[in-house]
Amino acid sequence: MTRKPKVEVKATEGSMFDAVLARLDKAAEIYGLSEDVKNVLRSPQKAIKVSLPIMMDDGKMHIFEGYRTIHSTVLGPSKGGIRYAMDVNEEEVKALSAWMSFKCAIANLPYGGAKGGITCDPRSMSVGELERLTRAYTVALSDVFGVDHDIPAPDMGTSSREMAWILDAYNKVHRSDFPGVVTGKPVGLGGSMGRESATGRGIMICTLAALKKMKLDPKKITAAVQGFGNVGLHAARLLHDQGIKVCAIGDHTVTLWNEKGIDIAKAVKYVKENKGILKGFTGGKEIKNEELLTAAVDILVPAALQNVITKEIANKIKAKLIIEGANGPTVPEADEVLKEKGIVVVPDVLANSGGVTVSYFEWVQNKYGNYWTEEEVNAKHDLSMNTAFENVWNNKLEYKTTMRIGAYITALKKLEMGINAKGHY
Ligand code: GLU
Repeated sequence: MTRKPKVEVKATEGSMFDAVLARLDKAAEIYGLSEDVKNVLRSPQKAIKVSLPIMMDDGKMHIFEGYRTIHSTVLGPSKGGIRYAMDVNEEEVKALSAWMSFKCAIANLPYGGAKGGITCDPRSMSVGELERLTRAYTVALSDVFGVDHDIPAPDMGTSSREMAWILDAYNKVHRSDFPGVVTGKPVGLGGSMGRESATGRGIMICTLAALKKMKLDPKKITAAVQGFGNVGLHAARLLHDQGIKVCAIGDHTVTLWNEKGIDIAKAVKYVKENKGILKGFTGGKEIKNEELLTAAVDILVPAALQNVITKEIANKIKAKLIIEGANGPTVPEADEVLKEKGIVVVPDVLANSGGVTVSYFEWVQNKYGNYWTEEEVNAKHDLSMNTAFENVWNNKLEYKTTMRIGAYITALKKLEMGINAKGHY
């Protein structure tokens, strides 16, 4: 059985970590960050690679590669999801871990940043294979993970199911019960109400906040949402609930367009009944994936893969507002184009921070052993997201820059304080 990458995602000159450094360097220059602090942030604290021999259902052994990178623990224990995808590699995990440090700082959470991943194709694996792989990964990293050390969560290709396996494997190794060692768990096993839809909810809050700044009425706005997984599905649903007309949606199987607006409730129902995929849904006409990105809509929400907004695509984008649901959907070379076109970009490190914000609430509830209602979680989430948005917006204005660089500056201010206050060897 071959398990080689099917799609090589590479639309930028450098690696994803280069994309992080490009923005970090730019923000550092505009803000006036010291070289020393910048160099600390350019160097992730720890990178671990594990090899995981797994007995596959066909009786053959396959050696998977797993990673965990801890970018920073300056502001608290490191936090970040675990990704299962074929293009997972050391560089990508490193980039994603740095983004988690910035994201947690922007969201004002007492966390550092980390990310993990396994190079695998979860769609072609059985539940049993996935469970064995997840347990092997957890055991291999059982000295790294910890309630007050490093706390994993779901990311692309993983969900509450994998988090429950991580919880169980970790607890078995440590012979005790540590519900706060992982977030994004099923409700009832220490998971939080509102966690599943939190990233989509954060996108909705950021959209409303940006529209307000732009003096646009949500009821007269159209949107295109790329990705219909945990992030895109809830984002589309919640934007629709706010009166925004979602004209295009798409996942890895199909992309659909409907000028009158897609019936999102029907699409959600269809996906739930059809193994999580949109293919076969008849609520719109089929278009090319690229056409969704360049569609004549007001808002574009890339909530699927990284590196989809290249320089060429940026030149063709008609939306006036981009809300980055995915991590790293825009390559650095496209930033300038979008700026010149006057397109407002709410960057990933702010736009998709609703997920980790509710992960933090889950962790707090686990520590207290006391659980909140969905209304309570949502109210705390909305307040936190609106505060983060305002801070980023104010830095954008103060430093006369884009929201992306304003977001990085927001993070740099906190990280600089932490690095300097804690001192050095
Ligand atoms: N994987 C999500 C992210 O990229 C959530 C991380 C978490 O909840 O720790 O933000």
